[in-house]
Amino acid sequence: MTDFKKIISHAKEYGFVFPSSEIYDGLSAVYDYAQNGVALKKNIRDYWWKSMVQLHHNIVGIDAAIFMHPTTWKASGHVDAFNDPLIDNKDSKKRYRADVLVEEYCAKIETKIEKEVKKAAKRFGDTFDKAQFLSTNPRVLGYQEKIDAILKRLGKSLEKEDLADVKALIEELDIACPESGSRNWTEVKQFNLMFGTKLGASAESAMDLYLRPETAQGIFVNFLNVQKTSRMKVPFGIAQTGKAFRNEIVARQFIFRMREFEQMEMQFFVPPGTQKEWYEKWKESRLKWHLSLGMGEDNYRFHDHEKLAHYADAAADIEFKFPFGFKELEGIHSRTDFDLGSHEKYSGKKLQYFDPERNENYVPYVVETSIGLDRMFLAVFSWALREETLEDGSSRTVLKLPALLAPTKIAVLPLVKKDGLPELAKSILEDLKWDHTVVYDEKDAVGRRYRRQDALGTPYCITVDHQSLEDQTVTLRDRDSMAQERIALADLPALLDEKLNPKNWLKNL
Ligand code: ATP
Repeated sequence: MTDFKKIISHAKEYGFVFPSSEIYDGLSAVYDYAQNGVALKKNIRDYWWKSMVQLHHNIVGIDAAIFMHPTTWKASGHVDAFNDPLIDNKDSKKRYRADVLVEEYCAKIETKIEKEVKKAAKRFGDTFDKAQFLSTNPRVLGYQEKIDAILKRLGKSLEKEDLADVKALIEELDIACPESGSRNWTEVKQFNLMFGTKLGASAESAMDLYLRPETAQGIFVNFLNVQKTSRMKVPFGIAQTGKAFRNEIVARQFIFRMREFEQMEMQFFVPPGTQKEWYEKWKESRLKWHLSLGMGEDNYRFHDHEKLAHYADAAADIEFKFPFGFKELEGIHSRTDFDLGSHEKYSGKKLQYFDPERNENYVPYVVETSIGLDRMFLAVFSWALREETLEDGSSRTVLKLPALLAPTKIAVLPLVKKDGLPELAKSILEDLKWDHTVVYDEKDAVGRRYRRQDALGTPYCITVDHQSLEDQTVTLRDRDSMAQERIALADLPALLDEKLNPKNWLKNL
C-alpha cells in the first residue's frame, strides 16, 4: 500500500481534497473536497443510497436539519455521556485519547503476530494453513491472549468510568508519549465532544444549541412522522446522509478523523425480541456492500465491541485495512429501544407502533448501520493509489478506483490536435455525456494524457486517430490492464453501459 504522505499529497495535487481555508494556513482536521473529490464522494454516497433506499422497499430516506432542539441531546445521552477520555503528556504538552494509546499498543502486538504469520508462510510454502497456525502457534496465542486481556480491562474500566484504572493501565504497559518519549502523564479526564453554539439575536434570549454529533437523532425524532406518512410497517428503516460535528481531541490522519464530517446512517426499526436476528442480517449485508466494490476480502474484518455504548445491547465495527492498520470504517449497533424510549420520556409524546400481527403497541427496537462517508473515501482512495513498475522499466501512478466510483468515467483524446480529429472526439463526448461523466483532453502527447487520467482514476480512455475518420472506429484503453482495443463507434454506448452501469454492482448485493 502506498505511503500515507503520498496519499495526502496525491489527493491535493490531483484536486481531490484540500486543507480547509489553506490561504490562512488551514484549520486543524477540517478539509474541503475539490473538483474530483466531490465527484468521488458523491458516487460513494449514491451507491450507498441506492443500495439502501432504492433496493429496499421497506427503507425510506430523509434529510433532517443539523440544528435540533437542545433537549434531543439530553434525551440521547450525548450531554452526559458523549465523552472521550483524554490524557496529556506533561513534557511534550501533547494531548491523547487514553483509549487510543492503549489500542495502539495492542496494534503493535498485532504487528508481531503478522510478522510470525509471514515468517511461517515462507517456511511452510504451499502447505501453510493460516487459520491453523493462528490457533495453535504458542507464540501467536501468547500475543493474542495479551491483546485480549488488555482490551477487556480497558473496556471494563471505561464502562465503569474508572479513569484511574485507565491511567494505571497506561503506566503498567509502560506506554510512552510518541512525541517526547516520556512517561510523565496527567490524570485521565473526560471531555465532551459536542460543539456548542447559540440560536437567537440577543444574548438574553439566545438558546444554547449543539451542532449534531451524529445524524441518527434526526431519524429518531421523525420516527412517527415518517411511519405514519409512509404507511410503513415494522420492520422498516429510515436512511439519511449528512454532516455531523465532533470536537475530536486528537484529529490526525487526514480525513480519517475530522471535526466536521459526513455520515451515512440507517436506523432499522424492528419488533422487540427480534433485534439479534436483524443485527446479524445487517452485519452480513453491510459487509457484502463493501465486498461488492472489489477491494479484497482480506482488507475487512469485524471487531465485536467489548465496551458497549450506553444505548446498545450488541455492537460491531467493520474494520478496513487503512495504510496505518485495521481501523473502524463502519459501525453496526443494536440500539435497543433506548433512543425512542428516551425521546418519549423527555418529549412526553408517544413514539410507539401498533403492530397488527402482535395486536399490541410497543416502542420498536433499532438496529443501526453507520458509516463515515469521508472515512469510506479514504478507504477507497488509499486502497486504489498504486505506484506500478511497467514492463519497460518505467513507472506510473495509477488510481485504481472501482469504476463505479471514479469521478470521471471516460476521457476522449484526439491523437493530434488537427486533421478533424478534435471535431470527431468532441462529437463522441457530446454523445456519451448524457450517460457518463466524460472529459476531453487534447494537450500533450497521448502517453502523457493516459498517465494523467491514470492518476485521476479514469477507468477508460477513448482515443480518436486517423483511422477513426476512415472506418468509424476508436481505441478503448483500459486503465488497469492498459490494454487497447479497437471498437466500432456504433458499439461504444452498449459496451460502456455494460462496464459502467451501477446496476452491475448493485446486482451483486
Ligand atoms: P471512533 O471510535 O473512530 O471515534 P466512533 O465509534 O465514535 O468512531 P460512531 O459514533 O460509531 O464512531 O460513528 C459512525 C461512523 O462515523 C464511524 O464508523 C466512522 O466511519 C464515522 N466517524 C466517526 N467519527 C468520525 C470523525 N471524527 N471523522 C470522520 N468520520 C468519523
